[in-house]
Amino acid sequence: MPRYYLTTAIDYVNSRPHLGTAYEKVCADVIARYKRLAGAQTWFVMGNDEHSQNVYKSATEQQLDPLAYCDQMDAIFQKTWHGLDLSYDDFIRTTQARHKAGVTELVRRVYDAGDIYEGVYEGWYCVGCEAFKPEKELVDGRCALHPQTAPQWIKEKNYFFRLSKYQKPLLELFTTNPGFFEPEARRNEQLRLLESGLEDISVSRAGQSWGIPLPWDPSSVVYVWFDALINYASAVGLGTDPGQFDTWWPADLHVIGKDITRFHTVIWPAMLMSAGLPLPRKVFAHGFMTVGGQRMSKSNPGTIVDPLEAAARRGVDPLRLYLVKEIVFGGDGDFAWDRFDERYNADLANNLGNLVSRTTAMAHQYRNGRLQPTGRGSDRLARIGDEIAHEYRQAMDALALHSGAAAAFRLIDATNEYIAAKAPWALAKNPDAADELTQVLFDAAEALRLAAVLLSPVIPGSSREILRRVGASGSDLNLDRDGRWRAEGERITVKAEGIWPRADTDRSRHVEHPKESAPPQPQPAAPAPAASAEPATGPDRITIDDFMKVDLRVARVLAAEKVPNSRKLVKLSIDVGTEQRTLVAGIAEAYEPDTLVGRTIVMVFNLKPAKLMGIESNGMVLAASPDGGKPTLVGFDQEVPPGTRVR
Ligand SMILES: [Zn+2]
Repeated sequence: MPRYYLTTAIDYVNSRPHLGTAYEKVCADVIARYKRLAGAQTWFVMGNDEHSQNVYKSATEQQLDPLAYCDQMDAIFQKTWHGLDLSYDDFIRTTQARHKAGVTELVRRVYDAGDIYEGVYEGWYCVGCEAFKPEKELVDGRCALHPQTAPQWIKEKNYFFRLSKYQKPLLELFTTNPGFFEPEARRNEQLRLLESGLEDISVSRAGQSWGIPLPWDPSSVVYVWFDALINYASAVGLGTDPGQFDTWWPADLHVIGKDITRFHTVIWPAMLMSAGLPLPRKVFAHGFMTVGGQRMSKSNPGTIVDPLEAAARRGVDPLRLYLVKEIVFGGDGDFAWDRFDERYNADLANNLGNLVSRTTAMAHQYRNGRLQPTGRGSDRLARIGDEIAHEYRQAMDALALHSGAAAAFRLIDATNEYIAAKAPWALAKNPDAADELTQVLFDAAEALRLAAVLLSPVIPGSSREILRRVGASGSDLNLDRDGRWRAEGERITVKAEGIWPRADTDRSRHVEHPKESAPPQPQPAAPAPAASAEPATGPDRITIDDFMKVDLRVARVLAAEKVPNSRKLVKLSIDVGTEQRTLVAGIAEAYEPDTLVGRTIVMVFNLKPAKLMGIESNGMVLAASPDGGKPTLVGFDQEVPPGTRVR
């Protein structure tokens, strides 16, 4: 069984976790869950970074023993992570004895390799970053990330690590192993810095008690960043458990933020090279998260979102889905409450949740909940299911988490289209179509089963519930076995309340934040005029969700004939990709039937059927219809295949 060891960055505990911190952990959790689903024996480690001077300062300010303070914060962090359904196997704290042992082991190896020497550090230090800052990195004399705090000028005895010695091996690592650091843009950035040369770095702080003492000079402690990086190795037994260390090291993946790439892709590999230890296989840097377009900052409280509060609004899985599906993994992303609600409605309430409810409700209405396949299932839907499972796997293996989630939703879209095309409610009226009806419902349940398996790393709890409702097992899922179309096996479906009730986005639009919502006010009889520059949301405007209810599709005209005794109407047979349909259009005055054949049109796909001059019309053709003038069909300037959605 392949093994997979992944980590997240460990967090300073001097402030509470916010949505940006949570974003990284959720993405790493999705990768861990995916690896388990794909059959790898997985070890997923998170942790807290406790030897920071800021932690020491916060503790002292609260008149707490630093360790007691760290214990309190540990409880807050792990409560948050449990609340987000994170499946970490281990949680390391850098004040633990095992970490101390790992750090001692690693710095001793580096020291023995002759890569540490004594010197005097004189220069700037940013307490916010807990990092030494070369003059050239300061902007107007301040750290770019902490412009409010003046950097300190420090002059003290320090031990230095010969980082400069590793410039060549690091360049070789970057050039011979491009997969070591992704995404590529970040990698190129770091490569240019590497090419411009490396300076030795200070790895100790003198005269401090909060930290891990250097084994050869206990009057100094290991500099917090050097200390912190070693957690990835000490968590799997460096210095304490050689057997465990050999099993799990090197790490397969470090998931980090793009602001700490230098530490992870230059300093950390150099430390390991010096210590004679294998390098991690991959470092992946995610982007920054903004809230409502603004950088998260303590000075702007509206931008600090508590992840548990965000999860409480619509549920933990909707939050996880938003973070994973709406943000390209590796790029920057934004969180906004109204957008969160919109995506919740579009993806979950109206789409996936609705499909689960409809499918199980019809299964119960027409087949008492039991679906036995007839053996004549939809080849097309099965093929789409298998293709999507393949695309999903490729995306997830490449850490394109957003694409993986989107692929699963394409299967849900295809299933909605399939149900609309097959119209089980119509089949139910035809005794000859009994088998077909059973099979259509089975196919829909099967597509939901497959989609739920693919989505299980992203929305684990909801996936289990969907699997239960469509009569499939949700435990010990395995991608090879469960992540493909399954044409056999009876399904005993469960009908229950909708999983995701629709969110009222019209009201929530004005409630920026649950905590900030104003006490209830008497409602004015008419909506007050909008005071902000926001576009008006009066009764004549619809939301994107309203619009998305209209399913517009491309279709091709296969045959056309005039409707007898009608001046305006023409009867069309059309190909909508998944099926053929008949519809009646009022365009006979503008188009000769013969000229319509082969033409590409746009139609409303999910319009209720209507009878016109005795012909059942299934859909409506879109045309520009000037008052008193002749209609002009909507068309495209390029070839578009039938069935394509228009939106
Ligand atoms: Zn700083």
